[in-house]
Amino acid sequence: MAETLHCDVAIIGAGTAGLAAQSAVHAAGGKALLIDPYFAGTTCATVGCMPSKLLIAASHAAHGARTTDMFGVRVPTVTIDGKAVMQRVRDERDRFARLTRENIQDLPDDVRMQARARFIGANRLALDNGQEVEARSIVIATGSSPFVPDAFADLGDRMLTNETIFDLEDLPNRLAVIGSGSIGLELAQAMARLGVDVTLFDAGKTLGSVRCARVHDALKDIITNDLTVHMGVDLEAEQKEDGVSLRWTGDSSGQAAFDYVLVATGRPPNLDSLDLDKAGIALDDHGVPVHDRNSMQCGDSAIFIAGDVASDLPLLHEASQDGALAGRNAVAFPATVKSERFAAFGITFTSPPTVWVGKSEEEGVITGVADFSDQGRSRVEGVNQGVLTLYAAAPDGRLIGADLCCPASEHLGHMLAWAVQQGQTATQLLEMPFYHPTIEEGLKSALRTICGAVPLPLPENQDRGSPPGA
Ligand SMILES: Cc1cc2nc3c(=O)[nH]c(=O)nc-3n(C[C@H](O)[C@H](O)[C@H](O)COP(=O)(O)OP(=O)(O)OC[C@H]3O[C@@H](n4cnc5c(N)ncnc54)[C@H](O)[C@@H]3O)c2cc1C
Repeated sequence: MAETLHCDVAIIGAGTAGLAAQSAVHAAGGKALLIDPYFAGTTCATVGCMPSKLLIAASHAAHGARTTDMFGVRVPTVTIDGKAVMQRVRDERDRFARLTRENIQDLPDDVRMQARARFIGANRLALDNGQEVEARSIVIATGSSPFVPDAFADLGDRMLTNETIFDLEDLPNRLAVIGSGSIGLELAQAMARLGVDVTLFDAGKTLGSVRCARVHDALKDIITNDLTVHMGVDLEAEQKEDGVSLRWTGDSSGQAAFDYVLVATGRPPNLDSLDLDKAGIALDDHGVPVHDRNSMQCGDSAIFIAGDVASDLPLLHEASQDGALAGRNAVAFPATVKSERFAAFGITFTSPPTVWVGKSEEEGVITGVADFSDQGRSRVEGVNQGVLTLYAAAPDGRLIGADLCCPASEHLGHMLAWAVQQGQTATQLLEMPFYHPTIEEGLKSALRTICGAVPLPLPENQDRGSPPGA
């Protein structure tokens, strides 16, 4: 007879979402059991946000060193020490991962259970160590994993994913990146700016699923300046002694040899080994439990879901908010409450970053556009490229969304997400101070277009003229 452990909330998966859920259960005075086969640190710290941003940081340094001439600053030669680049990525990544593991280790022993869990009933889990868990409620927080299409599955160690690329000891000479989503775009551009000969392939026609055609054009110009891009192609791969040969057909055709292929074709949710058919909950067409994003509850059940596995917005801050909602509602079950979600927004850390906020152009009534090719401060800094589009609703010009690929877009994107979440209008934003000369001033022309299109005057305190380049 298997030993049965009892708790208020069993949490499957100790990533960002699971840890946030555990913390919410603890804060509400409940007893949580956090189950994970590895407790290796979160995806964010080990193979996700942090190592990718570390590689990107190195690429910024390389690009900055190569583009000083316009300021009259001569850097005779820029040499990339690939081993040192990858060493720093790993050292810093390992530090972040260690800190995450230490946080997990600080949890009381009876909160942590090192095992893999699967459902054997709506309130019952079997662990791969032979034990069982009975819980008043359960949070599924098992994350997601790279999807590798069959065409690339047999390439051995020449095939990389986000789980292996940061362990390379040196930068490759030639890299093929398959998939132009966030992960593919970020790593392709970073590698290219670090001197790697990168070719990006995608079966689709739109880079990074960018919603706005103007922003897509700007991104395409920027990316194709750094690397070769083949969109709308199908690929065949063959492993060679010293790398991989790729043949592609479609909108273009050709054949080329690469040292490695980075497969970045999506990260489906980790659901397969959970035996969800035993959980008694409805699943959608993709096998994901049907859930309410405002409570993270699956139907009326005592099962909650959080993080990438929920397949809503696979982003770190969303995983954290999911976990907090799921944990709080799981411990309070059946007294679940629905909470407002953050304004949705995502950043792809291309250079400059590509950002989307809230709703798209089709869902708005008024669009304001700002072009940064001649924007004052952007020109001063030599980063004057890209575009920003703002979407607003009638009748008052309330901001509902934006798309950006322009200088400082990760910061502008935050400001706009906060404005959207607070239901602010273009007029209200123009009533705020804009320091001169800043990249933020670039927002003004888009905001003015929106003000001009709604039956409201420009704000009283708004100067009609602009300082140079604002
Ligand atoms: C390369 C890359 C770059 C990224 N960059 C960004 C970024 O810049 N900004 C951003 O917001 N987001 C980024 N993300 C996304 C972000 O990392 C994820 O949204 C977030 O880490 C998801 O957290 P999670 O808790 O859902 O999953 P995870 O952290 O993966 O946790 C899932 C846990 O579940 C455990 N588990 C799985 N199955 C079982 C089982 N049966 N039983 C018990 N435990 C199980 C796993 O061991 C794991 O510990 C990036 C992702 C990648 C891959």
